[in-house]
This record gives sequence, C-alpha cells and structure tokens, in this order.
Amino acid sequence: MDLVIRNATLPDGKSGIDIGIEGARIAALQPGLQARGAREIDAEGDLVSPPFVDAHFHMDAVLSYGLPRVNRSGTLLEGIAVWGELKPQLSQEALVERALRYCDWAVARGLLAIRTHVDICDDRLLAVEALLEVRRRVAPYLDLQLVAFPQDGLLRSPGAFGNLRRAIAMGVDVVGGIPHFERTMAQGAESVRLLCEFAAEKGLRVDMHCDETDDPMSRHIETLAFETQRLGLQGRVAGSHLTSMHSMDNYYASKLLPLIAESGVAAIANPLINITLQGRHDSYPKRRGMTRVPELLAAGVDVAFGHDCVLDPWYGMGSGDMLEVAHMGLHVAQMTGLDAMHQCFLAVTQTPARILGLDGYGIEPGCHADLVILDAGSTVEAIRLRAARRMVLRRGQVVAQAPRSNASLQLPGRPDNVNFRIAPQATHSR
Ligand SMILES: [Zn+2]
Repeated sequence: MDLVIRNATLPDGKSGIDIGIEGARIAALQPGLQARGAREIDAEGDLVSPPFVDAHFHMDAVLSYGLPRVNRSGTLLEGIAVWGELKPQLSQEALVERALRYCDWAVARGLLAIRTHVDICDDRLLAVEALLEVRRRVAPYLDLQLVAFPQDGLLRSPGAFGNLRRAIAMGVDVVGGIPHFERTMAQGAESVRLLCEFAAEKGLRVDMHCDETDDPMSRHIETLAFETQRLGLQGRVAGSHLTSMHSMDNYYASKLLPLIAESGVAAIANPLINITLQGRHDSYPKRRGMTRVPELLAAGVDVAFGHDCVLDPWYGMGSGDMLEVAHMGLHVAQMTGLDAMHQCFLAVTQTPARILGLDGYGIEPGCHADLVILDAGSTVEAIRLRAARRMVLRRGQVVAQAPRSNASLQLPGRPDNVNFRIAPQATHSR
C-alpha cells in the first residue's frame, strides 16, 4: 500500500478501521489491516469522512463583500441590486483571484466539491469565462460544477436564454433558473418548462433557485416536479432554497411533499442564508424561512445543505466551513434527535455528492482516496465542535493540515488542557 490510515472511526460509527490506499484510490477498509503502507498515518480513533460537498454556492460573488457598497437592508432584493451595481465593474482577473482564494479556504476545510451558480445575464459572460478558468485550475484538488444561472430572470432579462445556451456550449455543466423572479407566476412556470426541456434535450442536470421567497403562493416547485416527471429527468433535478414551503398551508404541503418525492427532485436548503434573508418583511413573530427539511426527508426526498454565500452582497459572514452550515441547519430545522443530527452531517457530505453525481465518492474500496480526518469522535461531535480538519487528502495525497482545537488551562487542581471532546459512544447515532 502507498498509504495506510490506522484506527479510523467512520461516519457510520464503525471504529478501529484501517484504510489502505493505493495510488489515488481506497484499496482496503477493515480492522487490523496486515498490509504495511509506505506511509502510515495514525487517526488515533478520530472520525475519517469522505470530503464535504457544497451543493449550492455563488463563486462569482464570493469575497466581494462591500463592493461597491454594503447591503444596508440585508434583504435578498437589495443584494441583487448591489450585485447588479458590481457586475459592470467586475474584472476577470479579480474574479479568478477571489475564487481561487476561496478554493484555498475550502480545501483547508475539507470541502473538495462545490456546485456554484454563475450569473449569465451579463452579455460578456465574463463570470462564466472566469469560472471555467477556475474550474480548470482547481481540478487537481477540487471538483467545481458550474450552473448557468439567469440571476435577472430567464424571460425577464433580455437575451438571458441566448446567454444561457452560450454558457452551456462553453462548458457550463448544469441548467439553472429563478422562476420566482420572473414577472408573473405564469412566466415563472413557463421558464421552468423551457429550462427543463432544454436540459432534457442536452442531457444535462437542472438546479434552480426555486421559490426563494416568504410568499406561500410561490409554487414553482410544483411545476419543477411536474416537468421533471414529464420529461423523465428523475434523479437529475434539484430545487434550491424552496423557502416558500416554510410558509405554505399545511394541507397544500401534504399534497406537495409526495409529489416532490415521486418526481425524484432533490431539495437544497441553505440554512445560513435562509435564516438571514427570509422573514425580512415580518415584524414579530419572524419566520425562519428554511424549507421543511425533516418533512422532506421523511417523504424520501434527498435534502442537502448548501453554503450559498460567503462574504458577498447577501452575506457578510462565512469561511467555507460546511460544518457551520450543518450546525445552523440542525438548529433551524430543530433536528436535535441523534439520528437527525447525523442526517445533518450527511446533508453536507453523502447527499450533495449524490445530487452532484460525483463519481467515486465515498469511503469504500474503489472510491477516490479523498478523505478528511476530523478532530472529533463522531459525525455529531464534528458538527458540535465545527471540528478542526486535522488532515485533508485528495487522491491519496495530503493537501491540508491543521492542529487539534485544544486549549491550555492555568487553574489550580484542574487539568492543564481541554479538548472539548466527550466519549465517542455517547455521540454515535447508531
Ligand atoms: Zn443561491
């Protein structure tokens, strides 16, 4: 073996596991592996997971916070306005530079696959060119999937559909949309139909910003589920945000949830951003705005948590930490049962990997040797501590390292350091 990682705890709770790696792939996974590695790493019983995956991000806007001005109201719509002011000033070099800098952060956080939407409403397609360049440059260490996103509306923005077709022809991977931003409900539904037909014709995946509003009557997810089924796109379509479902009438939701499940449409919630941007027109009580995550999961729908924004016109926080995303999702969805907390970890690893269609993802023989060793004993503890990424491996090579999150104490009669960990058996979900 080229590398053996000894004494790992896996996300499913199995402990004392040795992981043998040959070249870029996992070759063996068992307790007490006899084979020796040219290099050996002692995981010391820590959690070893496949890498984090972000199913929803905006890399063309990342790290642009304050350019050209800060979003004063903090609303989604002012964010879109600020982004509109910034767009004419964007340079390809600055955009590439910011994106590469963010990818450095991502790798350090064990985040090795990102689906990013890229705004195609600028006729120059400058952001598309920049992110195609970034995708090429980061490919050795990070999988970047691009979604052609008509931020200003497919039908509302002149030329948007033409730009979207051009972006796909240039190599963008996924068809995006924003039906709730079109001029009318009917135009929103029409945009969903057109985009799904285009994706079916081209054999592409679909991921739309869908119903990112507090308006319970915003029901484009219904159309998205219908078109997915009609065109045979099951398993290739995701609805991002779906925040209107938070405010929907329960009777309607009880009809909608099985329709989404039946259509094989996945849901992507963005807890940090949903809790921040939704409910802005409420006084008190204020709605949380995140979609119905436990109910979608119970109906059998794949649900991932995305980061959406880091330091951009919509959000002045974030550092590429998908455990922070899972932590917020867990709280906002009140997913506090042990199994539910574990599902929040899957929502930033396994589930988004499936939504993106990543091949060779996982922790089994034959999978890519892409792994993260966390300063935690379980998935739940990883979320609780936003655990340090002790080591990040890509294709069998170490690409990032960080120390454990310990602190020293100077207290008479007390231990001389703390690590915030508890015994592993208390935090395994099964
Ligand atoms: Zn988004």
